[in-house]
Amino acid sequence: MQSPAVNQAMDILKQLRQVTEGQDEVSVKLSKIIRVIAEQTSSDAASVYVAVDDNYLELFASCGLNETAEHRLTIRYGEGLIGEVAKTTRSLAASEASKHPKYAYKAELGEDAYHSFLGVPLIRWNRSIGVLVIQSKAIHEYSRAEIEILETVAMVLAEIVASDEMSNYKKELIKERGLVTRERVKGLSLSKGYGLGQAVIHRRRQAVSKIFAEDKEKELERLQVAHRQMNDDLDEKLNSTKLGIGEHVDILDTYRMFAKDKGWYKKIADNVNSGLTAEAAVERAYEDMWNRLSATNDQYLKERLHDLRDVADRLQNYLSGDYCTACEVIKSNDIIVVAQTMGPADLMDYDYHKIRGLIIEDGTPTMHVAIVAKALNIPVIAKIKGLFNDIKTGDFVAVDGNDGYVYINPSLVIQEKFKTKIAEKQKLQARLDELKKLPSKTLDGVRIWQYINVGLAFDLDYIETTNCDGVGLYRTEIPFMASDVMPDVERQISYYKELMDKAGNKKVIFRSLDVGSDKLLPYWSAMGEENPAIGWRSIRITLDRRAILRKQMRAFLRAAAGKELNVMFPMISDVSEFEEAKETLMIELDKEKRRGTPVPSKVNVGLMVEVPSIVFQLEEVLKQTDFISIGTNDLAQFTFACDRGNPRLAERYDVLSAPFLRLMGDIVAKADAAGVYCSVCGEMASNPIEAMALIGLGYRNLSSTGTSFGRVKSMIRTINAGEVSDYVKSLLKSKKRTLRPQLMAYAYDHGIEIY
Ligand code: PEP
Ligand code: MG
Repeated sequence: MQSPAVNQAMDILKQLRQVTEGQDEVSVKLSKIIRVIAEQTSSDAASVYVAVDDNYLELFASCGLNETAEHRLTIRYGEGLIGEVAKTTRSLAASEASKHPKYAYKAELGEDAYHSFLGVPLIRWNRSIGVLVIQSKAIHEYSRAEIEILETVAMVLAEIVASDEMSNYKKELIKERGLVTRERVKGLSLSKGYGLGQAVIHRRRQAVSKIFAEDKEKELERLQVAHRQMNDDLDEKLNSTKLGIGEHVDILDTYRMFAKDKGWYKKIADNVNSGLTAEAAVERAYEDMWNRLSATNDQYLKERLHDLRDVADRLQNYLSGDYCTACEVIKSNDIIVVAQTMGPADLMDYDYHKIRGLIIEDGTPTMHVAIVAKALNIPVIAKIKGLFNDIKTGDFVAVDGNDGYVYINPSLVIQEKFKTKIAEKQKLQARLDELKKLPSKTLDGVRIWQYINVGLAFDLDYIETTNCDGVGLYRTEIPFMASDVMPDVERQISYYKELMDKAGNKKVIFRSLDVGSDKLLPYWSAMGEENPAIGWRSIRITLDRRAILRKQMRAFLRAAAGKELNVMFPMISDVSEFEEAKETLMIELDKEKRRGTPVPSKVNVGLMVEVPSIVFQLEEVLKQTDFISIGTNDLAQFTFACDRGNPRLAERYDVLSAPFLRLMGDIVAKADAAGVYCSVCGEMASNPIEAMALIGLGYRNLSSTGTSFGRVKSMIRTINAGEVSDYVKSLLKSKKRTLRPQLMAYAYDHGIEIY
């Protein structure tokens, strides 16, 4: 015989089944279910709250409460008794709800007359997707049996809440409201930042419906017209783009080369001649190429297949006459472009001033469109499968490029959060921009020389926008990495000259090619080393492949003709390596002079201190070098034997610890004593609290990223260098694993601006 509790549960479930199997819409069903539950449990009120995103529940149906609160009242996970049930995924009973420590009063519910409360979670995959509540006016102790009955009912309700019907209902609600509510998808962040705007679905590939042509001549003509139109448009777009110079144009040029490739066009035309429609011919030409290249392990060739796919899709769209973009459909000023895959030129279909984010269903970090988007400061999220089931043109989308999340039709709360983040960033930027004209001087009058690090062409703009003292590190490998082939001397000269021209009279420090480890060139296959960070990389490669080094030195010398040239060598582990590299530069200088080629007015040669062994050779080094620059990223990596790219180790060791600060202090003290210019160009100089410690140790030359320049300057202008120095030195004997909290507290107590 079954217990009375089980019998009662069975009765309720029988009635619920009648409701669920009926033809009503899901919202009506929910209301009916809630009424049945209230009646059958002899409760004065019953209600169901449904999760609308990871953080909030919304009142979906109720009886015995204020009905106007339905779909208006939202409750945070953890807020009040209902939020507590959702957060803990455990039932909660209270005979006097208002006396419960977690109770939170919600005036709009009209529950003042109620005393007892029983809430049970609706659970799916170990998570609360809603909460079912019954309430009574009387003070009542809920029995274990009553709780179990409601928990059984909740299981049925959870099925309904998780059903497709319910999910469509929620989507409809979102649409009706214009925008509210939820859905968060995780992807891979390829470019940081926050963006909010309306989705524009970038044209998707259409299936070719007609394979065989009726009229060959007509098809050839269609192909010709579409091909010409596509190329004309591409030329116009690429010529008018304000993307800048250097590697971006290289990328776009590669794309244009594909579009104009005669071999590719001939292949398509041959396919048409064999009887195919123009569309089928384009597909066949692509498939041929795919069959030949897809099996390769060569990453570079694989990327080229991406480019070819993009060009083929573009041509298909011209053939179908559908080349007007969704941008023309949506007149919004803030758009989020959503694409299955995308070529860099496709981005030019949109006014990039309006693009607030880019979401790509496929995508890899080396994808060219990501490089271009990054340079334009557009957040990018990739690798989101099935994205097109969730997003439609016109949906409101929020992109969190910092953590790699996409929010589709986010709740007003999330939207507000995004708006605040975006506004905070803009406000801070505006404040920092105001500092531009002011000197980088501490409160006690110490001048700090602030430089920037440059890699991408886009970074060059920071020379002017930051009003910096110069370029403290030009990572020459970046344009090498973005190029499809090893740049020859002429090409290199054009990169370097462009930088020299932008810098005018400001100091520029060129670093010789620092490739290997995580910085791979597309045209060199990976070496497959076991320990690439300490393997054949950087100066070790360029000394072994001397022709590369010689060519680069020649390009530096020619680009800096008539001006001062500063060259430094990375990853120097032994003084002899520096001597060899320096000699190579001097031989090239001699050759140039003998050739009668104009040479720089002065040549300074330096090295990066980023391998601990060179710190032990500093006395010797300082006799031979014109300057040194500390690469704290690698110096910390090798000092702590801690892979700089491993997120698991990211917080284990700290550059703001006594041993590392002592090391940094020793270096600058020795350089100062020898009268050798000494700067820091690693990330430490870009992080305001770390840069403050460096100034305390005696550093006066800091080279940071363009984006952090203003924040570092703001710190500089609010410190007293003498006092900071005393404080930092007082910490150098500390045995603490990190001194960050102390330094942060010091900054806070002294009104130092650390953003
Ligand atoms: C460094 O190691 O600190 C540095 C500036 O060089 P990179 O980050 O390019 O290795
Ligand atoms: Mg380095």
